[in-house]
Amino acid sequence: MSETFTSVSQEEAGLRERVRLSFDLDADICVIGAGLAGLSIALEAARLGASVAVLEGRHIGWNASGNQLGTVMPGFALPLTELIERIGFEDARELWTLSKEGAEFVRANATEENMPGIGPSDGVLEVSNVDGGDRLISRLQMLTEDFDTEVEGWQADRVRDVLKTDRYFHAVYYPKAFQVDGRKYVHGLAALARRAGARIFEDTPAVSIDHSGIRKRIVTPSARLRATHIVLAGNIHLGAPLKRLSETLLPVWRYAGVTAPLGERVHEIIAFKGSVMDSDGVDHFRIVDGDRLMWESPETTWAARPQRFAGAVRRRIGTIFPGLGNVEITDTFGGAIGQTVHGMPQIGQLRKGLWVASGFGRQGMNTSAMAGQMIARSILWGDERWRLFSPFELVWAGGATGRVAGQLVGVWGRASSAAAGSLARYRERARVKDREREARLAEANRAAGTGPRRPPPNGRPRPAAPVSRPEQPAAAAAEPAPHDHGAVNREKLRPKV
Ligand SMILES: Cc1cc2nc3c(=O)[nH]c(=O)nc-3n(C[C@H](O)[C@H](O)[C@H](O)COP(=O)(O)OP(=O)(O)OC[C@H]3O[C@@H](n4cnc5c(N)ncnc54)[C@H](O)[C@@H]3O)c2cc1C
Repeated sequence: MSETFTSVSQEEAGLRERVRLSFDLDADICVIGAGLAGLSIALEAARLGASVAVLEGRHIGWNASGNQLGTVMPGFALPLTELIERIGFEDARELWTLSKEGAEFVRANATEENMPGIGPSDGVLEVSNVDGGDRLISRLQMLTEDFDTEVEGWQADRVRDVLKTDRYFHAVYYPKAFQVDGRKYVHGLAALARRAGARIFEDTPAVSIDHSGIRKRIVTPSARLRATHIVLAGNIHLGAPLKRLSETLLPVWRYAGVTAPLGERVHEIIAFKGSVMDSDGVDHFRIVDGDRLMWESPETTWAARPQRFAGAVRRRIGTIFPGLGNVEITDTFGGAIGQTVHGMPQIGQLRKGLWVASGFGRQGMNTSAMAGQMIARSILWGDERWRLFSPFELVWAGGATGRVAGQLVGVWGRASSAAAGSLARYRERARVKDREREARLAEANRAAGTGPRRPPPNGRPRPAAPVSRPEQPAAAAAEPAPHDHGAVNREKLRPKV
């Protein structure tokens, strides 16, 4: 089913009136923030029988959650090898399993029946900007054998059969990863949460909270709420209720554009149907509406109007797929993601009855769903698996200075990956030239009557002269990555504000 990219704000204005909280209210759980995280928690908790009130300062999906691409992958923004290094193999595996459960939560909810027009489709390709096919095999082994995740390794030739660019080399194909209309999903989630009994109040910011007693108090501009549990799911905009918490996140604004219809040529150049993302987190795209290209790329550490980046998206498309020519960008969108210093989400209980669910970074679809399940199940069933996140403490992200530093790190990261990409392309061109040179040399030798040589006098053939071959299948080339089986002292590392 194809997706249609109507503007979410039009959809919002046209379809329903927002309800503000204008009377005092009691609930079991008060969730602050109606983004993916807050609504996933509200949905799961309401389904498990709790009375839930969601407070949203603007409107549902106002920020990143209503302005994203809807690609659903297992795992986290933090690369798997780094996760294993940090917390050891066993705990990393448990976290990975939870992240897959998060993806399954999205799959189960994002059906055409629940969310008409959501357009789920399978298959995501993670392409490499560098020619490191030798590292591919260890990654594939780790994902399939140790992390029970279905993947396929694609060599550069196969990647280039479906993506006509010399920018990408090998890839990891996730047949079970999928995509939905990301901008519709958050509204679908809100509708399901309401259906399960949750109450959602928009234009209702939480301006202060008192979390000291058993019944906690939340103040909004025109009403008060009392609840046994508060879940802070306000991402970078949480502000006044717990400023120190907001400061543990580095805000990063990411932008995307959608082209005008491109006709058949887009399928000649991009023959892969699902989402494509590069392994450096720079580009992320897929075809929508039959023949339009939706492309996420630039990022800043300050807020800007997404329209400003139409040119940057267009240029980026031209750089990766020059065969598409000069495309027109007709729609732009974007939002701020909260990045933690350690790269993992903040999920857990800060003190009795006060919970946090934020810092999902650029991979929020499955991870916010996972947080919703874990927090709701901990409150209602006593499931303590959220403690697996305890090693990832709340670390100050440095306020304004941190943001400037963040931009520098981002720029450095992109520059170095771009440099690595150019180097890999250079090496590949050099290999092709070598092969051509050798072929010419052999031909010249033949013409000059110097080859092929006669067999040596002992009758045994000589070892063949070394020929430079096309890349070996990575499967033959590398060792699996070593695993760290170190344990974590979870009690000692519990999160604190
Ligand atoms: C361009 C782009 C593309 C992306 N693509 C993908 C993708 O394909 N796949 C993927 O997995 N992830 C993607 N992401 C990341 C994903 O969108 C985020 O990780 C996720 O939306 C974060 O959800 P959230 O609920 O934590 O935060 P938000 O979306 O920021 O929601 C928080 C909400 O809380 C409200 N709030 C804050 N403070 C208060 C308060 N005091 N009172 C009341 N309300 C408050 C805010 O108004 C806001 O609506 C993308 C992000 C962007 C920007």
